[in-house]
Amino acid sequence: MKIPFSPPYIDQSVINEVVDTLNSKWLTTGPKVVALENEMVQFTSSDAAICVNSWTSGAILMLKWFGIKEGDEVIIPAYTYCATAMCVLHCGAVPVIVDVDDDFCISPQAVLNAITSKTKAIIAVDFAGWPCDYEQLNEVICRPEINDLFIANSEKQRALGRILLIADAAHSLGATINGVAAAKKSDIAIFSFHAVKNITTAEGGCICLNLPPNFDVAAEYRYLKMYTLNGQTKDAFAKSIGGGWKYDILFQGLKINMPDICAAIGLAQIRKYLPELLPLRKLIALKYCKGFKKMSWFIAPPLIDEARESSYHVFALRIRGISEVQRDKIIDDITSKGVAVNVHFIPLPMLTLFKSLGYQINDYPSAYLQYAHEISLPIYPQLNNSEVDFIIETVVGAVNKQLAYSKESITIEM
Ligand SMILES: *Cc1c(COP(=O)(O)O)cnc(C)c1O
Repeated sequence: MKIPFSPPYIDQSVINEVVDTLNSKWLTTGPKVVALENEMVQFTSSDAAICVNSWTSGAILMLKWFGIKEGDEVIIPAYTYCATAMCVLHCGAVPVIVDVDDDFCISPQAVLNAITSKTKAIIAVDFAGWPCDYEQLNEVICRPEINDLFIANSEKQRALGRILLIADAAHSLGATINGVAAAKKSDIAIFSFHAVKNITTAEGGCICLNLPPNFDVAAEYRYLKMYTLNGQTKDAFAKSIGGGWKYDILFQGLKINMPDICAAIGLAQIRKYLPELLPLRKLIALKYCKGFKKMSWFIAPPLIDEARESSYHVFALRIRGISEVQRDKIIDDITSKGVAVNVHFIPLPMLTLFKSLGYQINDYPSAYLQYAHEISLPIYPQLNNSEVDFIIETVVGAVNKQLAYSKESITIEM
């Protein structure tokens, strides 16, 4: 059996939607992008949604929108993809990297300890689709002694009057807190539509706004749409309508708009997401949990509790008590049986760029432990029952073999 890690979901409805775009002869930002933004507003109950060409560019945009620049600090977790830090570096600011808790998510206590008078924003990562503890993060941000530290240096910073809470929701489309979209619990949630994510536009992202009521949402939406298009007052679609040729450039914008040909893919997928695709992901996650439950080494990923529910983006299996070397051997064994797996994530302080900036993995013991124990298993709607059974059997075989080989050397305890 050959099982890929995360192939995109491309059915006839996706193909039809893309062909429809091709037949319309309108390829770049236009009606399909607007339709996808409307779907995202509905799906997340957000005040507005702005589609862009990646999560990364969307995050750069929002940090710039907030006026983040050299000398500022943005708190991020060690356990994430590099983009969470890259957007901060692109603004000339310092990513203040903090450790995570056992649920892979940023530690609110570590955030509290890291806040200084230079802190302008926090980017919390909903790892694998598991929402961060936004209640605690919001509580920390709003403490009077923390608020007193905040220095507003831009129009948006003055309007907010506190640290900005951004959700790196690259994984968490469909995640909920108390039955409400998790995106509602932060000021700004940014989703990724990269090819491996739950919904894709090949490359793409979407910024969902849930700012306090003193922000004019319609005005922010118009401003941000211009920002994605070089600060231009009209997009190409508006200009293409007869007599609409005149435009102005109001400010130095970025060029990060999403094309309609890409939006078409996501549009077809998101219509099926709640009724079909998300429940199928959940079923697979539950099947894995059932399959591994009896194994003493199985550490279940956080998927559901009294308040939160995951979007089942990554099935982050952890194996109790193994070393990083043993984990790598288990992966080799699983891969040799035809099952593609992955590790989410190599903590930032283990990557060359961040090492060269002075970050050290020794300062992030929890992130290292999660990483050393973690193997991400395939999870996507197209996986059938016999494939899931085969993956469980293959993983159990590989782990048990490795643990039997090296019984004496198991010294690391979770
Ligand atoms: C995929 C991913 C991103 C980056 O998304 P792009 O759309 O590729 O820019 C950011 N953060 C996390 C946690 C991701 O997994």
